[in-house]
Amino acid sequence: MGGTGERTLKTYQHFINGEFVDPEGGDWFDTENPYTGEVWAKIPRGTKADVDKAVAAAKAAMTTGPFAGMSPSQRGKLLRRLGDILVEHGPRLAEIEVRDNGKLLAEMAGQLKYQPESWYYYAGLADKIEGSVVPIDKPNHLAFTRHEPVGVVAALTAWNSPLMFVAWKAAPALAAGCSIVIKPSEFTSASALEFAALTVEAGFPPGVFNVVTGFGAETGAALVEHPDVAKVSFTGSDTTGAHIYAAAAKQMKRVSMELGGKSPNIVFADANLDAAASGAVSGIFAATGQTCIAGSRLLVQNSIKDQFVAKLVALAKSAKIGDPMAADTNIGPVTTPPQYRKVLDYINVAKADGATLIHGGKPASGPGVKGSQFVEPTIFDNVTNDMRIAQEEVFGPVLSIIGFEDEAEAIRIGNDVIYGLAAGVWTRDIGRAVRMSEALKAGTVWVNTYRAISYMMPFGGMKKSGTGRENGIEAIHEFLETKSVWINTSEDFPANPFVMR
Ligand code: NAD
Repeated sequence: MGGTGERTLKTYQHFINGEFVDPEGGDWFDTENPYTGEVWAKIPRGTKADVDKAVAAAKAAMTTGPFAGMSPSQRGKLLRRLGDILVEHGPRLAEIEVRDNGKLLAEMAGQLKYQPESWYYYAGLADKIEGSVVPIDKPNHLAFTRHEPVGVVAALTAWNSPLMFVAWKAAPALAAGCSIVIKPSEFTSASALEFAALTVEAGFPPGVFNVVTGFGAETGAALVEHPDVAKVSFTGSDTTGAHIYAAAAKQMKRVSMELGGKSPNIVFADANLDAAASGAVSGIFAATGQTCIAGSRLLVQNSIKDQFVAKLVALAKSAKIGDPMAADTNIGPVTTPPQYRKVLDYINVAKADGATLIHGGKPASGPGVKGSQFVEPTIFDNVTNDMRIAQEEVFGPVLSIIGFEDEAEAIRIGNDVIYGLAAGVWTRDIGRAVRMSEALKAGTVWVNTYRAISYMMPFGGMKKSGTGRENGIEAIHEFLETKSVWINTSEDFPANPFVMR
């Protein structure tokens, strides 16, 4: 750590084995407020030594510690208490996330009101992990299944919704009886460390929940490669995801991958066009377009395209850009400097490829705009689906509009992409709604709505958007192994032991 000015900065520590500890290597790095561009805290730079300590603590917690001996109902009570504590600390954590990430306070306040529900949901599920007795077709055998915790979980997360990813991964993992080591994004590590303190207050035994911060190739890679990590739960880009998938495969670790998207938001002529225009805006400009589920390809039926685009541009023009802490701000800064440059690069690519810029397209300025990471909400028309702007994830407030004639063409264009995370359909025709929801290759299909997410509903991707599901009952099975138990109820064993029973 350096100069005089830096001494006033908040200096975070790793959270390992129930305690906040300095990094073994004695190194910290800066974290910035994306709105002001100012460094506001120091984050520990984790090395293999920190990862080794955290995984050892997590392994001990699962094998010899008090957590290992707890009944599922006791585990559930811990999760419930954590949910209650999160309610109390929600407003404070929301502000920290805004400072570190640039997300709107309004969005964070909403998220943090809702997040305790994830902890309550998995608290309730902890003691409902039931195996089954199989009516087996062999005489004198009792055969049943049991679901056991998979082992130590490594959770690696993206920078766009750090606290939400903690809930999505840790709540089902801990409910399943696993311990966890979280490696948040180097750009937004503060909230996971702040959250860690709540696990102490809730009474989690040491080692059950750990946070080690640092860079992907250093801290993240050491965690993925650690032989005592049984399961890797990853949220991030498909490029990093593929790399981690390959690393995990060497030790046959279990993996789940929540990756990127290029989701089609499809508007038919018979839709409620005002609602659809709001849905299109929500799909691409909410959270400054920095969501995996961004409806970044807007497919509009040609017969209403001009009329619809006019509505959309009017809405985009009304968006207030500025301070994420202000209640009336609609669009905040881009979270990281590299991401800001990437968004502007993609705007240039779209122009060069022949898309028609009809709104925005440059760094934003004006009252309330500080620092240097604001981009205007940007809309391109006359995009064709083979352009890079239609195929590659921008992860920013940049919308591509593509016209289509009929349902068949909408399905063809909608699916013609490497990703399959989400899709939106706007229509009043119930038959078409059902047909589209079946035909679109995406983990989530929204009809006449967009960005609806719940702890109760499985979430995840098809194709290059990933594998596995978060949320809902399915998510807990990502952290469980099924064991089949056979018990011979007789004293006999077949006379010929060389044939299968
Ligand atoms: P990223 O892939 O760059 O990083 C994600 C995490 O992986 C970070 O913690 C990073 O430090 C770590 N990492 C990087 N290299 C690593 C390595 N070699 N070994 C181990 N860990 C490594 O992603 P990002 O830029 O933080 O996030 C944006 C991406 O995340 C977008 O593609 C977005 O679509 C995706 N995302 C997906 C979902 C989803 O649920 N499907 C949700 C949010 C974001």
